[in-house]
Amino acid sequence: MQASDIKNLNIAVIGGGYAGATAGLALSQIGANVKVYEQAPASGEVGAGIGLRPASVKLFKKLGIFDAIEKVTSPSDYFEILDAKGNVITREEWPHLSEGGEKHNTRMIHRRDFIDALVSQLPEGVLQLGHRAEEITDNGDSATVRFSNGVEETFDIVVGADGIKSKVRGLWSDSQPVMQRAHAYRAVIDGSLGEGLLVDDNLRLYLEAETGRMIYFLPLRHRGENGQISFDITVPHDDTTWNPNVSKEEVLEMLKNFDERLLRIVEKLDWDEVNQRAAADLDPQDKWNSDAVVLIGDAAHAMLHHQGQGANSAVIDAGVLADCLVEADTVPEALALYTSQRKEPVQELQRISRESWNAESAGKTAFPEKEKINY
Ligand SMILES: Cc1cc2nc3c(=O)[nH]c(=O)nc-3n(C[C@H](O)[C@H](O)[C@H](O)COP(=O)(O)OP(=O)(O)OC[C@H]3O[C@@H](n4cnc5c(N)ncnc54)[C@H](O)[C@@H]3O)c2cc1C
Repeated sequence: MQASDIKNLNIAVIGGGYAGATAGLALSQIGANVKVYEQAPASGEVGAGIGLRPASVKLFKKLGIFDAIEKVTSPSDYFEILDAKGNVITREEWPHLSEGGEKHNTRMIHRRDFIDALVSQLPEGVLQLGHRAEEITDNGDSATVRFSNGVEETFDIVVGADGIKSKVRGLWSDSQPVMQRAHAYRAVIDGSLGEGLLVDDNLRLYLEAETGRMIYFLPLRHRGENGQISFDITVPHDDTTWNPNVSKEEVLEMLKNFDERLLRIVEKLDWDEVNQRAAADLDPQDKWNSDAVVLIGDAAHAMLHHQGQGANSAVIDAGVLADCLVEADTVPEALALYTSQRKEPVQELQRISRESWNAESAGKTAFPEKEKINY
């Protein structure tokens, strides 16, 4: 689309998580008139870390916000999978780490730092907190949103970045989150409590293949005096309560075959500070867009966390959506082009993530997705 047409576009992004905040940045940078409507009164995130993959890092460089991200991250070279006792099964460099003569290391980041960094780069007035979308009407060539505070407005494009329980998706789908009979217990701890295991900036997964129990050990060495560790215990569990309440004793029993140093870390955890969440994802969605409404991030393709690609896919969606508006001649063409570029690779990630890890997959590669997707 011509720059003058893009300048006249009024875009509402519903949801100010990673997908929505990145969309706010990318769409404002191509000149659109964009607002990001977030239901919460303030931006917030749970205490846990994630790895920003090389493709996300490249996007942040393109958007000119890499400096802000770099300040709150550590560069990582590889992902290592070990057995429960700490013997290395697979160690592999992050795919696409070096490209075009430049290194784009995966960056380890605390989730709260990530959302703060993104939001700090949004132009003044783009983020509208305390705006919960209550009702969305697709008018064909526009869409109207009614917010819980009584405000109602019609936009040329509504971007649904409102997460796994997306209201926007409800326009055409009655898909609900699928509970996957697993729990994640997550905490960020001081490096001094790491039993000497915090040695570098690389992600480690300790896997008990026979039971599917695992610990993701994600270093955040740039945080605090001693560095910090994002410690994520993921175990199969029949309880599908969204926010389960499992005791430390039960978890220690489940992990009894793990390396004693890992068990000592669990023993020292302040259990009141541990975030407990049931693992859920979405079935692959047929429809991602109409002529005026489009889904990005978890709203379109929530996936399990085993490949660490949910947030990464969310930000890449946002970058691709902005590119498609520039490339296509009309809004409907741009939204269809976005779906055609993103749906297939991301649905492949959804499928692979559902397979979780087992002895065979972990023995083959740390990145089972790398043959199928180019990031
Ligand atoms: C245990 C666990 C570990 C994970 N680990 C990783 C990892 O290592 N790497 C990785 O890449 N991903 C990981 N993920 C996945 C990642 O967290 C998600 O994919 C990511 O948060 C999706 O971002 P999003 O912006 O699409 O959705 P969300 O983060 O869910 O954001 C949606 C936003 O929309 C807002 N909202 C919702 N409804 C409305 C409404 N009606 N009106 C206005 N606002 C609304 C919400 O308040 C929220 O701020 C993990 C997930 C889990 C559960």
